[in-house]
Amino acid sequence: MKVLVINAGSSSLKFTLYETHGEAMLAHGLVERIGQAKPELRYEVSDGRVLRSEASVGNHNDALGLICGKLVDPQWGVLQALSEVAAIGHRVVHGGEKFTAPARINDEVKKGIRQYADLAPLHNPPNLGGIEACERVFPGVPNVAVFDTAFHQTMPPASYLFAIPYELYEKYGLRKYGFHGTSHKFVSQATARFLGRSLEELRLVTCHLGNGCSIAAVKGGQVLDTSMGMTPLMGLVMGTRCGDIDPGAVLYLVKQGMSADQVDTLLNRQSGLLGVASIGSSDMRDIIAAAEQGQEKPRRALDMFVHRLASYIGSYHVVLGGADAVVFTGGIGENSAVIRELVVSRLGVLGCHLDRDANARVRGAAVITTPESSLKAVVMPTNEELMIAQETEQLLAEVIAKRPFCGNPGVRRQNSEWDSSTNPACLSIILATDF
Ligand code: ADP
Repeated sequence: MKVLVINAGSSSLKFTLYETHGEAMLAHGLVERIGQAKPELRYEVSDGRVLRSEASVGNHNDALGLICGKLVDPQWGVLQALSEVAAIGHRVVHGGEKFTAPARINDEVKKGIRQYADLAPLHNPPNLGGIEACERVFPGVPNVAVFDTAFHQTMPPASYLFAIPYELYEKYGLRKYGFHGTSHKFVSQATARFLGRSLEELRLVTCHLGNGCSIAAVKGGQVLDTSMGMTPLMGLVMGTRCGDIDPGAVLYLVKQGMSADQVDTLLNRQSGLLGVASIGSSDMRDIIAAAEQGQEKPRRALDMFVHRLASYIGSYHVVLGGADAVVFTGGIGENSAVIRELVVSRLGVLGCHLDRDANARVRGAAVITTPESSLKAVVMPTNEELMIAQETEQLLAEVIAKRPFCGNPGVRRQNSEWDSSTNPACLSIILATDF
């Protein structure tokens, strides 16, 4: 089944086209600077060919039209016709408490996404824009929303509530929601497969370390706690976000005369590695290089990053009643042997001992601890787009399976039998017209 995955930001539209049978990525890319000066298309085909071109697009509709044109282009295309796209999966950042699983888009779901725009003003409105662009460009093709918050909805109240009057939770939904859920879910499942264990029996501490960083305690595939909060500002030290901070410090800044918007910018865009290292970069590679040259502030930024992360791992070890593995993923987690070494070298007290050679050799998935370690450290590449494509396919297959005349997911019984893998266009028509 061919599934198009869309991640719509305020000025960008990222896409990946998957053939879910065999997990094959057919094409991916993005349009950047939509509605700004010099928008650009980057389009890459699975054989490695890359196209970069200026894109005269003023909005997400135009951007999607441009991408679709390339998908069926005689030179660059990977489809004979757009009707081969059987479903579209959308990354949606905030699903609040309402969405605990992927949802087939309808008016009610769009209303929910709009409702949570207050909690994710930079993300949910463009996510919805991407959905509506797809509805226009692919009329009748089912759209599915996959929420960053959904995987974390298993947290118990002791984890997700803030210690403030309960009425504020009831009135405003003030609570921890957590983000990067699609990544935490993907690496939890992938780690279980990689270790040859069932997810149900595993206790994992998953560390998603990219520009944004978060950590989750996952027991039997269920999140017990995570570090991001009502917004992605809470928790670990990140590229430009401060993570945990005394709310009293925020109040102090306001009392000194800073406006809410100024504090917002300070804590979300000027803090974290960027703010502490003071070298004009939030890129971990630059911070490490500057620290290795002996610069004091980048070294301090690195120490804070590692201290905070190791402290959370210790805390989640307790939350889980003892963890089986710590999982590193995201741009930093997958690529930085230095950060992994700095973190794991603090976990000896938990029975986690680094295998330096294994850590230096990592390509893809790997165990980087010694065989005697009672707590393993694992590197696991994340793939949020694939997870969205799989969840989209799974949701639609479940819906079809519930239909009275369907025997198996994805298979329709009529005069002759056919399978969704061989006739995705028909699947799309059935899905589009039946509910
Ligand atoms: P995003 O959160 O935007 O998806 P990524 O997951 O791609 O970001 O992670 C970006 C981060 O990964 C940047 O801080 C970058 O410096 C870091 N990174 C990528 N490669 C390396 C590397 N080899 N060593 C250290 N950090 C790296």
